[in-house]
Amino acid sequence: MIYDKLKQIREGKISAEENIRNFISKIRKDNPEINAVLHLNENAVSQACEIDKKIKSGKHGKLAGLGFIVKSNINVLGMICNCASKTLENYKATYSATVIEKLLKEDAIILGMANMDEFAMGGSGETSAFGITRNPRCLDRIPGGSSSGSAASVGAGFCDFALGSDTGGSIRNPASHCGVTGFKPSYGAVSRYGLVDMAMSLDQIGPLAENVEDCEIIFNIIKGRDEKDSISRNFKDDKKDLNKIAIGIPKVGANKEIWDMVMKQVELVTARNHWKKENIEINHIDLGIQTYYPIVYVEVFSGTRKFDGRKYGLKIEDSCGEEVLRRILGGAEISKAEHAGRYYWRALKAKKIIKNEFEKAFKKCDIIVMPTVPRIPHKFGEEINVEDMYNYDTLTVLANIAEIPGISVPCGFIKEAKDSIPVGIQILAKCGDDNLLLEIAKKFETREN
Ligand code: GLN
Repeated sequence: MIYDKLKQIREGKISAEENIRNFISKIRKDNPEINAVLHLNENAVSQACEIDKKIKSGKHGKLAGLGFIVKSNINVLGMICNCASKTLENYKATYSATVIEKLLKEDAIILGMANMDEFAMGGSGETSAFGITRNPRCLDRIPGGSSSGSAASVGAGFCDFALGSDTGGSIRNPASHCGVTGFKPSYGAVSRYGLVDMAMSLDQIGPLAENVEDCEIIFNIIKGRDEKDSISRNFKDDKKDLNKIAIGIPKVGANKEIWDMVMKQVELVTARNHWKKENIEINHIDLGIQTYYPIVYVEVFSGTRKFDGRKYGLKIEDSCGEEVLRRILGGAEISKAEHAGRYYWRALKAKKIIKNEFEKAFKKCDIIVMPTVPRIPHKFGEEINVEDMYNYDTLTVLANIAEIPGISVPCGFIKEAKDSIPVGIQILAKCGDDNLLLEIAKKFETREN
């Protein structure tokens, strides 16, 4: 809980140094099993001592003394930014992303770089070149992905918060599986300068933390227009009467137990707040995956041309894993001139249509609620074909396609044998309503565990 931690630090009940030392010893103890962190920041403790001096003099930033973990596709000056790939195995960042500069300016401290699916391509934490990440809540299951290490780090108590990136669900999906909160802001709300892109028209950086308020605190620091990212902008916050919220529930496919759990929570929150709830129809809502992947494949192909072995690391085709190669080859194929845009252009058209459908839906309701992930995370070693793997993201890709903000909040647990498997509820709002979404999402947080 960031707010309480900051208060304790300010009141001298715990120093920044102690906070950071506690996290580092926890990481040293538990990370060998979970494998959420790839590289520790060797200077974290000395940086914390410097922050303690600032706190004593009263000249400290808003996040003074907090420790955070960064997905390994976000550049941090001097730290390894390898995207969990052999291609960039020893690549040291030569500058810091805008989000990092903003957080450091507020005196937060970097603990380390997180494991992830290779180049953010995956949804399970299994495609990293540096070993799988385990789900801290059920060790023999996947933590979700691609921000697997970021979500697992929050779940394992390795940090106060973490940063992830979300192209089609990579913040919300692992947040759901690991029982933490993950927020993907509106497209353009947070600068992506310094993020190694996966699919530029869909990528977004966002926070993962224990609860909605923590995500809100971090979002308010990292958001806003940045000259270095031309699509970034300042959204004007819509003020809305929280006593009059209308929730829209679209029909989507999901495991029955998950669906029932999410709807039970919706009933509870609706009744408690005297909100309205109605079933809505969103045309083509079932076409998310078919729209998302052609766009991703083509943008992955074009975005990875810089990894030709001359400037950064190794040639990607010679050094990457199967999933990355599948997308590069697939993207090269479907963007060929002879296909005359049959796939990419069509997918872009479908993107526009789905975006419009969501805009129409938000004329009838303020937020849309559905499960974050339609199924429970599989166990390591279980055979999952490519299609089933892609289908994990059926419900998360929609927010990226529609460019709207989305958050996953823990909703409960499904019991299977001796496992208690976390389930997340996903809440979506219209583009730019990020702060409203966060405000509403707080009402969905379950307190009983
Ligand atoms: N799992 C999705 C994919 O593999 C989403 C990844 C992401 O959001 N970075 O593309």
